[in-house]
Amino acid sequence: MRSITTLDLQYAHRFYGFKGEAQYLHGHTGILTIEVEDSVNEGVNMVFPCNEIRKTAWDVLQNFDHALILREDDPLLPAVLEVYEKQGIRHGAPQNTMTGPAFKTELATAYPECRLVVTKETLTVEGMIKIVYDLLKDKLNIAKITFTSGVNAASADFSTRHEIERCPLCGIALQNGICPKCGYRKV
Ligand SMILES: [Zn+2]
Ligand SMILES: [Zn+2]
Repeated sequence: MRSITTLDLQYAHRFYGFKGEAQYLHGHTGILTIEVEDSVNEGVNMVFPCNEIRKTAWDVLQNFDHALILREDDPLLPAVLEVYEKQGIRHGAPQNTMTGPAFKTELATAYPECRLVVTKETLTVEGMIKIVYDLLKDKLNIAKITFTSGVNAASADFSTRHEIERCPLCGIALQNGICPKCGYRKV
């Protein structure tokens, strides 16, 4: 069975070099749906607590929220950085508090200190799904990701790969046989 969670991300981007309106900088509220598949954990009668899926996902994905997402070869990138630098906000600002840990994968690099994500490929809805799966695949048994942004939507199915031992009392993943939330110990 599956547990499903949804979160939204507000971001600005453009399709650099694309022959259409999307070559201009613009913004979206994107809606991301993550489906986690596993057996039903009999102790709590759920696959996985949805708020815990959300927490795990949000930890890294908050770097995309209220962020500017640009492809690595987009000339807007050095131009924006120059402005941020001159303004003194390139390396952080007291108001920039909603930051996740910086990350770097094959597909994307997050610079949370200035709310910027630099991508290898154009950030289409398909591109977003590839990036999100790559960031979360080792943490969650992801069976499907759907991303909707304006009139565009895409989804992808994945085969789940992990044996994740879950707490029979609160449902979250055990770490070395111990529940980090309620202290349950597997005997
Ligand atoms: Zn767009
Ligand atoms: Zn627990």
